[in-house]
Amino acid sequence: MVSVWLILVLEFLLSYEQVVYALKQLQNEHFSIAFDIPPDDPFSGVAQEILTLAASYAKRIELFAKIHSLSAELSKGVLLEDVLSRAYQAFRTVIPYSRLACALISEDGASLQLVWAHSSNPGNMRLTKGFQAALANSSLLQILADGEPRIINDLAVYLKRKPDSTSTRLMLAEGIRSSLTCPLVVDGKPVGFLFFSSKRRNTYQGAHLDSFKRIAQLISIYIDKSRLYQDIHDQNRTLQSTQEDLRQKSMHDTLTGLYNRGAILDLVQNAIHQAALDETRVGIMMIDVDYFKRVNDIFGHLAGDEALRNVAHAIRSAVRDYDRVGRYGGEEFLLLLSAPSDAAVDAIAARIHEKVGEIAPLPATRPVHLSVSIGIAVKAARDVDIDQLIEAADNALYRAKEAGRGCSIRHDG
Ligand code: GH3
Ligand code: MG
Ligand code: MG
Repeated sequence: MVSVWLILVLEFLLSYEQVVYALKQLQNEHFSIAFDIPPDDPFSGVAQEILTLAASYAKRIELFAKIHSLSAELSKGVLLEDVLSRAYQAFRTVIPYSRLACALISEDGASLQLVWAHSSNPGNMRLTKGFQAALANSSLLQILADGEPRIINDLAVYLKRKPDSTSTRLMLAEGIRSSLTCPLVVDGKPVGFLFFSSKRRNTYQGAHLDSFKRIAQLISIYIDKSRLYQDIHDQNRTLQSTQEDLRQKSMHDTLTGLYNRGAILDLVQNAIHQAALDETRVGIMMIDVDYFKRVNDIFGHLAGDEALRNVAHAIRSAVRDYDRVGRYGGEEFLLLLSAPSDAAVDAIAARIHEKVGEIAPLPATRPVHLSVSIGIAVKAARDVDIDQLIEAADNALYRAKEAGRGCSIRHDG
């Protein structure tokens, strides 16, 4: 009799010891727990509870570890695209999906725009970046109100209920069958949605929604951060292009669109410098419209402006794209010759006279034909500075005027 009691007490103590040991294991985050307790033992129920708890803890800890490493991965992304591309790669180990997309709510809260979408079959994507939809009456509003992820197990069934849903229709056309939509919330304010989609039905059924919520929270933080960067990045780009616009404007003459005096002189200066290094020649043409005062006097200043634009266009069309032409002064143009060989220079001058001659004469009792006089200066770059080169071209131009206008004279020497 005593021995039976003794056995019972011993069994009790043994089970008790196991339970205490298991609880200590749990405290130390060791989750591989096993019991040797028979089903009819009074501790059997407790042991079962401990095992369930251990399994749930183990899952949680594993998720935390994953989220931690995902967080580290996402933090490497700076711009929105970068963060989402990293998310696409990183979350595949946690959530099954063949497509991931992110939509952000507009500033006024009225609409939603798809800012990023990636699929395992990119060629087949129908719902792509830029897709926009109004938020009013959208089923997504409910997700925002609940703050809870939404699972659609069968998009085909869902479409039957909501036949007006364009996005569902497009997803189905891509071969998507089920989806999980997580709200993105920053500082308590909804900013958008993350859409996980799968080609199989019921992919997200029974999913651990809590994990998805945590993941969505994590992504929200990085998306918010990346949006700030994106804004700064975009502003920077706008600023750069405005600066470039301004720079271009500051270099160009508003009437003719050619380089202005400052810009063409800079180009000539640079060309002299480069030609001196290359030990080659540098050449310019000074082109002046003949009797232009008369054009203004007869036809008025506006017609004069139009005539100047036509001359500018004629000169441009007579030279190569890479030849630099500027408006040096009122009705005077400066051409920087890119290849100042004697033959090339003569040919260019002839072409300029020809093109200017083709400008439609200004209508008057005796129609006024436009012509230009050209002074050419080509010199060994190491022997001249810019002032000397311009003076030489000016002198040649003066002589062309003297010679009766409508012709070219080359500065000799
Ligand atoms: P030449 O054959 O000797 O060069 O005679 P010209 O009449 O062309 O020379 P002049 O230097 O006496 O006159 C140049 C004229 O060009 C005077 C000026 O009013 C006009 N002009 C200069 N800039 C502009 C402009 O931007 N628009 C218009 N419409 N006229 C201009
Ligand atoms: Mg003139
Ligand atoms: Mg002049």
